[in-house]
Amino acid sequence: MLTLEEARRKVIEQVGKMRGPRASEKVSVWDALGLVLAQEVETDREYPPFNRSTRDGYAVLSREIRPGVALKCAGEIKAGDTVTQALTPGACVQIMTGAAVPAGADAVIMIEYTQREGDLVRFERAAQPGQNIVPRGSEARAGQTVLKPGMRLGFAELALAAQVGATQLQCAKRPRVAILSTGDEVVLIDEQPGAFQIRNSNSVSIATQVRIAGGEPVVLGNAADRVEDLGEKIEKGLNEDALVLTGGVSMGKYDLVESVLKALGAEFFFDAVAIRPGKPAVFGVCKDKPVFGLPGNPVSTMVTFQLFVTPAIDLLSGADAHPLPFVEARLSEALNERPGLTHFLPGRIEWRGAEPHVSALKWQGSGDIAALAGANCFLMVPAERENIASGAQVSVLLRKDVV
Ligand code: AMP
Ligand code: MG
Repeated sequence: MLTLEEARRKVIEQVGKMRGPRASEKVSVWDALGLVLAQEVETDREYPPFNRSTRDGYAVLSREIRPGVALKCAGEIKAGDTVTQALTPGACVQIMTGAAVPAGADAVIMIEYTQREGDLVRFERAAQPGQNIVPRGSEARAGQTVLKPGMRLGFAELALAAQVGATQLQCAKRPRVAILSTGDEVVLIDEQPGAFQIRNSNSVSIATQVRIAGGEPVVLGNAADRVEDLGEKIEKGLNEDALVLTGGVSMGKYDLVESVLKALGAEFFFDAVAIRPGKPAVFGVCKDKPVFGLPGNPVSTMVTFQLFVTPAIDLLSGADAHPLPFVEARLSEALNERPGLTHFLPGRIEWRGAEPHVSALKWQGSGDIAALAGANCFLMVPAERENIASGAQVSVLLRKDVV
């Protein structure tokens, strides 16, 4: 049985090897959120393209300014104005934020530190050369690479692409992730389950987590707990970039996922991890595709997806694996968990001021989706810890979809 860290390392190592050049396509910056860039983006000119004032105030020659000095205001420059005339010695020019500083000026004095007396401007403070001016080319030079392949596109990256005129971006295609649930008790979500059947909620949580991770879900439905049906559907799943199964990986007589994968030539890198929920999680490679067998209990499925499948989707997208989104928080109520496994308990994190506090929610174990639907994080209890006092610092794995 591997530890959480060992198991994640195995996934990253194996899927990292599969990371060849991926198919890519052009996507508008309006639609590229969360995609991974497959090209370099260069600047089309210098940034800023002119010496830019960062304040509303007066453009001056700094050495002419001392407290009490009054200079004639020779005009006004608004953002967007074409500026060709240099500042004449002994004068100043009113200037707005975002406007070009004229030649001959080397500082902008904030309007708050001046007094206007008709044509004259009286200065209350001395000036430093360069004050309140961002020099031309200081953010980026013309032709400089500002975005690289493998970068994930968020709001700042997309704004930068827009700034330099790169409105269509070559992006890696989302990896297609096949999703197959298993179990004789499982029915479609729009079917009326019999008294001892359950709806296939795991395919919905997995598809949602695939989307959040940047993949494209390919839902294959459910396989009965029979070797032939399972084998057929698994083979179909192996046509996609990765396959995620749920259920059928425990020790039960009808838990057939591992043996069917083995018969198809899978090599396994783990089939148990020292975590709860999620201990029976399986990871292997079958016909050159990563395959995950997640335990069927819904909360186990969700936790193991976040821990093991998310980094695989990152890598298959051409990006590096995200670190797990842990934060430290203060425990609201004492906890007692059996040692030996790293526990992930449904929790609720709240910020009182800037300080995060977390409490574990009451739950009935790893089948309890209702408890998880009110949780915004998983509270991690390390394997070696048993009692954790109220007020102690604990690690919390955020649910990125709701925090
Ligand atoms: P298994 O891992 O196959 O032993 O299943 C463990 C538990 O998870 C059982 O109570 C199953 O009924 C439940 N389960 C399995 N598959 C699903 C699914 N697709 N959706 C919701 N619950 C499931
Ligand atoms: Mg089952």
